[in-house]
Amino acid sequence: MDQIVFLGTANAIPAIGRENTHLLIRHEQEAILVDCAANPIVHLQRGGINLEQINHLILTHFHPDHVSGAPLFLMDLWLLGRKKPLFIYGLEHTLTRLQAMMELYDWRSWPGFFPLEYRVIPEKEGAALLELDGLEIVSSPVKHLLPTIGLRIAFNPIQKVAAYSSDSEPCDEVVRLAENADALIHESAGNSIGHSSARQAGEVAQKAGAKKLYLIHYPAHVTKEELIREAQSAFDGAVYVCEDFMGIDLTKGD
Ligand SMILES: [Zn+2]
Ligand SMILES: [Zn+2]
Repeated sequence: MDQIVFLGTANAIPAIGRENTHLLIRHEQEAILVDCAANPIVHLQRGGINLEQINHLILTHFHPDHVSGAPLFLMDLWLLGRKKPLFIYGLEHTLTRLQAMMELYDWRSWPGFFPLEYRVIPEKEGAALLELDGLEIVSSPVKHLLPTIGLRIAFNPIQKVAAYSSDSEPCDEVVRLAENADALIHESAGNSIGHSSARQAGEVAQKAGAKKLYLIHYPAHVTKEELIREAQSAFDGAVYVCEDFMGIDLTKGD
């Protein structure tokens, strides 16, 4: 199974049926959580994911719509009896703040709390973030309001690649992460400092030579048709608008 599942697709303001943007990378028996919005437990259950499959959590940056669910997620895993470690990946900027947030909750006093293994990712282009059997994830700093990483996810046995901009203005780092990717998942919060419009996402996809563009992190008031029209004005490939619980099955090439 080589899939990406969208657990949330909203920009910073969630709406009914649309949680803040966070997603899952599924490969073999692993389910890697990217960002931790609201409380992912319910969305993971609804998506049919066994919590035992989650051994890795990647945090792209320390904005509330991407990390605010982390303390409750960790507490719930503990209450559900987790014993094995959880590996947490992010920039130093992100992880020091996550740790400070956990200190405020006095987590050291939670008896029998499972081990958290923090992995600080260097703030450099093409940093090796995680390698599992047949799956390789690298990160690059992107252009947001604070230190943020985008991802390139290579499913090696099937030779498919997905890229994720996270929150970012159009930038060359995302173009390179998405070079010839089968799927580029790009934010489309709107043209403003630290963010991109759907048209700009299309421009990035075009420059990168990506095959398909998936728009995510878009405002609730914009229609799908508008987003697709805008992105298609700059991109020749297929454009999709992500919805909560939608998945990309890379094994099927869709
Ligand atoms: Zn965001
Ligand atoms: Zn952000």
